[in-house]
Amino acid sequence: MSLEEYTPSSNFISDIIEEDLKAGKYRGVHTRFPPEPNGYLHIGHAKSICLNFGLAEKYRGLCNLRFDDTNPIKEEAEYAESIIEDVRWLGFDWGDRLFYASDYFEKLYEYAVQLIRNGKAYVDDLSAEEIRQYRGTLTEPGRESPHRSRPVEENLALFGRMRAGEFGDGSRTLRAKIDMASGNLNMRDPVMYRILKSPHLRTGDKWRIYPMYDWAHGLSDSIEGITHSICTLEFEDHRPLYDWFLDALGAYRPKQMEFARLNISYTVMSKRKLLRLVQEGHVSGWNDPRMPTLSGLRRRGYTPEAIRNFCDRIGVAKTYSVVDIALLEHCLRENLNRSAPRVMAVLRPLRVVIDNYPENVVEELEALNNPEDPGMGTRRIPFSRVLYIEQEDFREEPPKDFFRLAPGREVRLKHAYIIKCERVVKDEKTGEITGLHCTYDPETKSGSPKGERKVKGTLHWVSAAHAHKAEVRLYDHLFVKPETEDENQCPDFKSCLNPNSLEVLKPCYVEPGMAGAAAGSRYQFLRLGYFCVDSASSSDGMPVFNRTATLRDTWAKIEKKQKTAGK
Ligand code: ATP
Ligand code: MG
Repeated sequence: MSLEEYTPSSNFISDIIEEDLKAGKYRGVHTRFPPEPNGYLHIGHAKSICLNFGLAEKYRGLCNLRFDDTNPIKEEAEYAESIIEDVRWLGFDWGDRLFYASDYFEKLYEYAVQLIRNGKAYVDDLSAEEIRQYRGTLTEPGRESPHRSRPVEENLALFGRMRAGEFGDGSRTLRAKIDMASGNLNMRDPVMYRILKSPHLRTGDKWRIYPMYDWAHGLSDSIEGITHSICTLEFEDHRPLYDWFLDALGAYRPKQMEFARLNISYTVMSKRKLLRLVQEGHVSGWNDPRMPTLSGLRRRGYTPEAIRNFCDRIGVAKTYSVVDIALLEHCLRENLNRSAPRVMAVLRPLRVVIDNYPENVVEELEALNNPEDPGMGTRRIPFSRVLYIEQEDFREEPPKDFFRLAPGREVRLKHAYIIKCERVVKDEKTGEITGLHCTYDPETKSGSPKGERKVKGTLHWVSAAHAHKAEVRLYDHLFVKPETEDENQCPDFKSCLNPNSLEVLKPCYVEPGMAGAAAGSRYQFLRLGYFCVDSASSSDGMPVFNRTATLRDTWAKIEKKQKTAGK
């Protein structure tokens, strides 16, 4: 699926937009994706990105990328850069509309002055702790601050002095004068500005006060003329506040709509927890291939198409749910099955000598690059007397349903010949199997007229003298419990970490044609799964392959079961 073909499926938000357009409420659709540059984007953000940019695409509107950079303490340039890279990688384009909430700091200040003039905001001297105490609870009303009825002139003067940096961090705030008895805690005189003498990434030392998210967010949407402001559910209770601010200022009011956050089984999605994984060294960084971050998924071998398709298939709803990670993997397999060339690689090598194959002869065998797409062509693979096969493809004492190699048994080597195991070689001391002696049947070459004699097992292999060494990293879920975010299942998320989420194998052997594979290249290793050349490391000069996914599609099974259950 190319981006040109990408139009998101309908959902309750697109239904509302369509009604609005039909009713002539808006001339076009203008959305935005508003990340805070305080961490890397994850697959949950991808849902919001696909929704916002996708709706703009669907209705031939616009979508802005806007950084909500109101908290200089937690924000870093590295994060902002990674966000830009990730949204681009997903395939979306904001044109010349890359904005920052900090672009509006001056304007927001003027708006605040306007509210003070109208008697709708006041400077408070209560500390953060006192404000919390005065706020009340869900069952008890709050109490009004003793500074609530300060005269307008005094408020104006104090607010000006706050800006000038005359007061210490946290010593005063600017608050909206709304209703301390409101049933909605967000309406109990929320803080609009705090004093914070921290340099800001973009405005440097210019500001000594910073707008709170709730003050900046709705106004930024209004300033940019956003028609449909799409948020996650936790902002539903903030909507009355945004409306109050905008109405008090007589400003344009976008239409806010909320949807449920994406959660995925066996992983965490909160930036705070992801940061802890990085800081405490449970993963190698934000882009560790086990992370649900977009940079981690990219390094793991995920394609933008697979992620966009996943975001579309999970739909948009208002109820909390945890999506099975098997669906994400299913979307990936669907995509890679069509696009990834097949190759052969041996992860745990077992040496095989074909005794009746001449020494010093090398045959070049023809192999299809992708049976799903003959257009991807063919390649030649060397076959010779000494090969590697997978250790687990041989059993000295095979169980009943084992159809691979065993003493006296025959199997086909993919694209090559049928071989028969004649003798097992063992380490004299340990008894460990170190190699096999086999014979081949020259009449059985794949593709030759007489070559199609049937045997039960087909194995992948590489020619020992021609194969290239590689390191392969196998990944499993980061966590052992499906609902990792559920405090009942994982009271401390660290205790739920999967100690076996990474397994490193080396040396492994890959077909010679893959020697120079570029970072990020994706392959299907026959019978083993999808693999991608790591972009961040090599191992003693060997390329590193990350296992993107196994071939086993558990989602297809789940879907089938659901369908039969529904009948
Ligand atoms: P924070 O707690 O730091 O605010 P956040 O995950 O909300 O974390 P933002 O940078 O504020 O991060 O998110 C940007 C946008 O992405 C917001 O509109 C937010 O609603 C949306 N978003 C974040 N997490 C998810 C998720 N899991 N599913 C869907 N949308 C999400
Ligand atoms: Mg947020």
